[in-house]
Amino acid sequence: MLLPDSVESLRAEHEALMQFLYLAPVGLVQAGLDGEIVMINPISAQLLMPLSPDGCLTNLFTALESVAPDLRLQCQQYPRADGMVFEGLHIHLRANDRARTSTPQILSLTLLKLDEARIMAVLSDVTAEMRRERQLRQSDAWLNAILTRISDYALAALDKDGRLCDWNDSIARVTGFGEHVIGSPYSIFYPADAMTDEHLLDRLREADNNGWSMDEGLRLRADGSQFWCSALIAPLPDREAFGDDPHAPSYCLILRDISDKRAATEKRRQAAFCDHLTGLANRRAFFEAAEIELDRAAHTPRQLALVVFDADHFKHINDRYGHPAGDRVLCDLANALRDTFRAVDTVARLGGEEFAVLLPSTGVEQATQVADRLRALVATRLVAADGFEIAYTVSAGVAVLDGTAGGIDALIKRADAALYQAKSQGRNRVAAWTPELTHENLPQRSRNAG
Ligand code: GH3
Ligand code: MG
Ligand code: MG
Repeated sequence: MLLPDSVESLRAEHEALMQFLYLAPVGLVQAGLDGEIVMINPISAQLLMPLSPDGCLTNLFTALESVAPDLRLQCQQYPRADGMVFEGLHIHLRANDRARTSTPQILSLTLLKLDEARIMAVLSDVTAEMRRERQLRQSDAWLNAILTRISDYALAALDKDGRLCDWNDSIARVTGFGEHVIGSPYSIFYPADAMTDEHLLDRLREADNNGWSMDEGLRLRADGSQFWCSALIAPLPDREAFGDDPHAPSYCLILRDISDKRAATEKRRQAAFCDHLTGLANRRAFFEAAEIELDRAAHTPRQLALVVFDADHFKHINDRYGHPAGDRVLCDLANALRDTFRAVDTVARLGGEEFAVLLPSTGVEQATQVADRLRALVATRLVAADGFEIAYTVSAGVAVLDGTAGGIDALIKRADAALYQAKSQGRNRVAAWTPELTHENLPQRSRNAG
């Protein structure tokens, strides 16, 4: 029998769990092994509701049936009593699930078996991340294309439905496939499951709309071996001349084996989003993360806090100890930020001695507290550089997204106004934005627009 105290502590634990579920920046669903939903947080409800065939969310597997039909089976066949059934499964929502004009939505799903009776699903919308990844892959592929001799390519013509119209030596050289490929959809170069009919058509539509479509990934040779490949599809400029002939060439397909370039590509991708001095997210990564968070906040109302940090009298530090020593201080501040904030927060260097942190599902008090923790932490540190031990401090401004803040620029303005307040009150302090701090009342601080 449970004693009143343990009932009380169980209740508190349950409340904490509910609070966590509610505030978690990802979708969480707890269900039975048969998929019957026991608990669901608002983000999951928002992600799953449009998929549910009957408009009511009672069963996880039923809700996802149309886009991931074998979840139920995978879960039933999972051999262990508990563990990860799968991690980060990407579910591409079909084009007709959303308006044709919008970007196809991609959900990431992780499924945990908690015990013989319960599962937990973790869901997030990774559309924007995938878009960013894709844009980067495309620019990388372009760069690779420019740097390589034309003889390294396989070139083929596709008809309007993406079927191969011809065959040539270059196809044989890169893929090993023979003449019999004529008439097959170009997905024969993709491993099974890596390309559906829908994706194939999506790529053609993308080429129609953008002038080209590029992807990169593991592709298949005739002998079954795989290679890392970049593939470009572009509409042929003179395709109208063929009239209505369905087998006429409409697109060109270029395949390139870039197995050896892959490591360099990964490095470049990282460099594009990393601040070179501190290794934190850079300005570009910050604004992209902000776009994703604001987009999410617009769909599912939740709090979003921004803290901007600026090193105090940093010019004096440079003047007194030299620029390289100043750099050491910036790296120390970056480490302190990294240690203080959570993994879900975006910690970025916006430029110079200015840093920003975006905190999802966080209110003004919590954000101010953690910002002050960081402030107090750095105030106790000494940075060793060139035989000196350098003490430094930071000031911070906090702002949270509410109905009146508008976009990221407005949010930054507010945090900046609060930062200015902290500076003018003597530095080494944290100030939160209040409506009295309208930007018009403050002298302008310089900041380049993102
Ligand atoms: P305040 O307390 O008002 O912020 O004063 P401050 O001196 O920190 O501000 P100010 O904007 O006048 O000076 C910023 C200095 O930061 C000037 C610039 O030379 C230095 N700085 C900018 N980027 C870097 C960098 O990457 N490394 C180093 N060492 N210094 C930098
Ligand atoms: Mg500054
Ligand atoms: Mg400064």
